[in-house]
Amino acid sequence: MQKGLIAKLLVIWIVVLILVLSSTIFFIRQSILEAAKDKTITIAEVVEDALTTLMVTNSINKRHIFLDQIRVMENVEDIRVIRAEAVIRQYGKGIYSEEPLYPIEKEVLTSGVPKEELIESLRKVTYRVVIPYKAEPVTAVNCMKCHNVKPGEVLGAISITMDLTRYRNFGLLIASGLGLIISALGSLALWFVIRNLKNVNNFLNEIEKVFSSFEKGKFSSKMNLTNLKEEFYELGEKVNKVIESLDNTLKRVREKVYELIGYSLMETENEIRDTEKIIDELVRISQFKKTIELDSDKEEVYRRIESVLADYMSLDKFSIYEVKDDNTIEKVSVQGKNLWCSEVIFENADECRAKRTGQDVDSEEFRCICPNFAMCDEEIENYCYYCIPINIGGKVGNVVQIVYEREMRQFVKLLIPYIKGYLSEASPVLESKRLMEQLKKQSYIDRLTGAFNRRFLEDIVDKLVAQAHRRNANIGILMIDVDFFKQVNDTYGHDAGDTVLKQISDTIKKTIRKSDYLIRYGGEEFMVILPDVKDGYSEHVAEKIRQKIEETPITLPTGIAIKKTVSIGVSEFPKDCRGKFWQCVKFADVALYRAKEEGRNKVVRFKPEMWDKEEY
Ligand code: GH3
Ligand code: MG
Ligand code: MG
Repeated sequence: MQKGLIAKLLVIWIVVLILVLSSTIFFIRQSILEAAKDKTITIAEVVEDALTTLMVTNSINKRHIFLDQIRVMENVEDIRVIRAEAVIRQYGKGIYSEEPLYPIEKEVLTSGVPKEELIESLRKVTYRVVIPYKAEPVTAVNCMKCHNVKPGEVLGAISITMDLTRYRNFGLLIASGLGLIISALGSLALWFVIRNLKNVNNFLNEIEKVFSSFEKGKFSSKMNLTNLKEEFYELGEKVNKVIESLDNTLKRVREKVYELIGYSLMETENEIRDTEKIIDELVRISQFKKTIELDSDKEEVYRRIESVLADYMSLDKFSIYEVKDDNTIEKVSVQGKNLWCSEVIFENADECRAKRTGQDVDSEEFRCICPNFAMCDEEIENYCYYCIPINIGGKVGNVVQIVYEREMRQFVKLLIPYIKGYLSEASPVLESKRLMEQLKKQSYIDRLTGAFNRRFLEDIVDKLVAQAHRRNANIGILMIDVDFFKQVNDTYGHDAGDTVLKQISDTIKKTIRKSDYLIRYGGEEFMVILPDVKDGYSEHVAEKIRQKIEETPITLPTGIAIKKTVSIGVSEFPKDCRGKFWQCVKFADVALYRAKEEGRNKVVRFKPEMWDKEEY
């Protein structure tokens, strides 16, 4: 860039020099020539007048004396007086007159018009003027008195040749002096421009380097100041300070992010784009946190994590697992396949490597790092996995597994820090939701028997009824009362009574399905809710319970084994009570009392005739 600019300046400079010199030379030459011409014409006119006077005073034969005096004048090279044809005819050639020598002289004699010519060569400059004499009858001197010619006829001519070489040389001398002065001044100016140009150019080069690294998002490269001078050096120093402070700010942003979320986010070469992305993502993550805090339970939080992975990050293969308190695993969400892990993890959570180690599990380290990845042996070539444990209350509470095709490695690698960002925000929220869930569960559980309490029934009854309506299903209601329970207390003591209640509760639990509910309804009274029961099947379940209790011996704390029986009243919702749940409960109770009345250790199905009142 610098070389190009200097070349351009030089060309401009040479053109200007040529223009100035040539116009100076032209001007000086013109002035000198004009002055020389004036001088020549003046001499010619003086000679004309002098010769006329000599002629009138009859002294024309002395004219050579006069002409010789003119010839010695400075710059006069030659002066010649030439007779025209008309005068030669009348007076002959004469002694002193001359023949026309140059074509210009002949032309003037013929035309009667004055002429001039300039003959220039390197060596010499000659200027010639030829002025005609004409027969002028009207002037003071009447030529026709002596000359036998017509008025206006040419009598002769004066030809004066001047040598202007000296003037030209003088002009050239002035022009070259002027040229020298201009060149010196110009060169000085050019040197000054080039010197500063170099400085400007170095500065611009450095700025260009710095800006191209800015363009790539790098803020660590500074300007090299070694080639900069004076004010450009100071300017460079200021630019470097700004770069340094910008770089420090960006570094601090990354450090804060690290402090905030506990690990570094993705870093590319482009610091600006990284920072922009980090801030965007932090805003998103913080919005995500605010949203899940307001979610009603952990299930909703799981759905949101699922949506971040599937909708926002476009992942189509992943699992979310929950580690239960009894060290089993439950799948919360599995995408892309029915199951990505071997089922053994469900029975024993420690079979899941991420759960057991509390560390990320990356199949990139060892292909089969977790042998319980279902495709470990078969298609490992195609599928890779990355499992992230979520710490909840000091233990691994969840595991998120990302499964991806090998070619997606780079993409997933970039996503992992962000996924972790979301999960680390979700972790305390999940912890509090799980805690809430546990508290709620505990408040629903009867401490002695581990069965649900009555509050639980009150809280789920609406959900239960709605579900039954939706599925058009029956709910079986069994009211169970221990027969002659008071006797146990009375005979063996209160602790023995408690043991009996606990054992009977366990026996009932074992007899019913997982989806059924056992509720301790009162002191020694239990209720079993059978959602989704087949028509008339409740009685069958009740009978099973009755039999099981009857045949199961209960070992008391004292070591004595006894057997107890129960009476059971059965009703079915909605058909027994026209859709009124609590009425069905009452009817089961009515049936229970019927069973007691009929001798105990009995199952009685409620019948409408057992209830003679109109409404419950
Ligand atoms: P029935 O066959 O008519 O049902 O006779 P029952 O003795 O079982 O009935 P009753 O209602 O007369 O006695 C219930 C007794 O259960 C009264 C109470 O002291 C006892 N009970 C209630 N709750 C508990 C408890 O949590 N632990 C113990 N040990 N006894 C309890
Ligand atoms: Mg009772
Ligand atoms: Mg009883």
